[in-house]
Amino acid sequence: MDYLPVGLKLSNQPVLLVGGGIVATRKARLLARAGADLHVLAPQVSDEIRGLVLDPDHIQLSPWDDRPLGEYAAVVAATPDQEVNAAISRGAKASMTPVNVVDDPSLCTFIIPAIIDRNPLIISVSSSGCSPVLARRIRSDIETRYPEGYGELARYLGSRRDEVSASLGSENERRYFWETLLGESEFINHVLHSNIAAANDVFQACLSGDGYSRGAVYLIGAGPGDPELMTFKALRLLQQADVVLYDRLIGDGILEMARRDADKIYVGKERSQHSMPQSEINENLAALAKSGKRVARLKGGDPFIFGRGGEEIEGLLAAGIDFEVVPGVTAASGAACYAGIPLTHRDHAQSVRFITGHTKNHRLDLPWNQFLNEHETLVFYMGLAGLGIIAKELVSAGRDPNTPIAIVEKATRGDQRVIAGTLSTIVKRAEEDSPAAPTLLIIGSVVTLHSSLRWFEPA
Ligand code: SAH
Repeated sequence: MDYLPVGLKLSNQPVLLVGGGIVATRKARLLARAGADLHVLAPQVSDEIRGLVLDPDHIQLSPWDDRPLGEYAAVVAATPDQEVNAAISRGAKASMTPVNVVDDPSLCTFIIPAIIDRNPLIISVSSSGCSPVLARRIRSDIETRYPEGYGELARYLGSRRDEVSASLGSENERRYFWETLLGESEFINHVLHSNIAAANDVFQACLSGDGYSRGAVYLIGAGPGDPELMTFKALRLLQQADVVLYDRLIGDGILEMARRDADKIYVGKERSQHSMPQSEINENLAALAKSGKRVARLKGGDPFIFGRGGEEIEGLLAAGIDFEVVPGVTAASGAACYAGIPLTHRDHAQSVRFITGHTKNHRLDLPWNQFLNEHETLVFYMGLAGLGIIAKELVSAGRDPNTPIAIVEKATRGDQRVIAGTLSTIVKRAEEDSPAAPTLLIIGSVVTLHSSLRWFEPA
């Protein structure tokens, strides 16, 4: 981190602005909003700046004069003259006064980020001087998500902190309370619409424990790997969780979106090397929720597609624990899109079938004669170890040995690979390229589209 974002308390503090043109005017506006007692030094000063300076004596119409800067809480240089800017920077540094030189990070001891001002809620975005335009674009995105009323919301919450501290003894309880309250979307809406009486009702209900449950499990489909394939809901619930249970399929970058202080527990699931048996995972989920924790159970892909999500919630239902299930992008969708292989296509396939290729004792007991439709795409999950069996059984059952098949390895991730062949060549191709888990098999004539529709070129 090149800069630590901090907040400068400038209200009623003398701040020197050197410069009086358009750029200086922008800075003057900002400093005035922070309540600074503006002092301005410049040969010419815009009318707007004049209006922002509280004491007319604090405007000096003269060029930079190497004055001492120790008496100022901060100095902002906004002149077009590089030498002057450098001299101001030197002078400020000599007296340890924070200095900002507009558009020259090398002369600054502090930089001014792009700001979303929902006072008292302040959101700042900085690119550490690399690209103010990028920071501003991001600011616009955030601005649309957090409308004006969020200032009111922050004020409301601030005004009730003491009451909450008096009612709820432990920090954990307080955090649950605030997160539950903010999780009540109608509460936020009431405050945004200035319907304070209704907001107070929700507040009281939460504080007295009505309608605010402590422990819960969120069974979250995290998608096949690319963190951006998570849903908004997945992200929101993940960020509320105190404990995160995750397994091998959770892509890099997804865990980082959890709260930093959340416990992260790896529950494994390498093939034939289960780090934590399913029964133990189920027990753990229930026990953690009962102890008052909000538990995110992160699942690769979708929890209800070969994800044992059903078994996990059975246990929760039996234990009377609150839970939510969040659907995710399943590996078949992710792999197909990122490999440029549409699972259905008017000219190729009118249906698609998801099949488990998980072998037991090197055997795969499947109704092979149901997989003969040339106009249906077959997707095998967990099929790599049984690839040879799958290819052989399909041909034995009557599929053309020239049926196209693709192995999509590590779909949607930066190191995705697609290995394409036919039912008769794929085993050899796999031996040559030795793909690693996780991999998905896609079978059917849609696979031929890969060469023309591929768009995702992994790093
Ligand atoms: N619930 C998951 C599937 C879990 S079963 C989902 O909906 O996607 C595990 C299998 O999913 C793996 O053996 C592999 O076949 C497939 N899989 C999961 N993530 C994958 C990925 N990124 N690339 C390829 N296959 C993947």
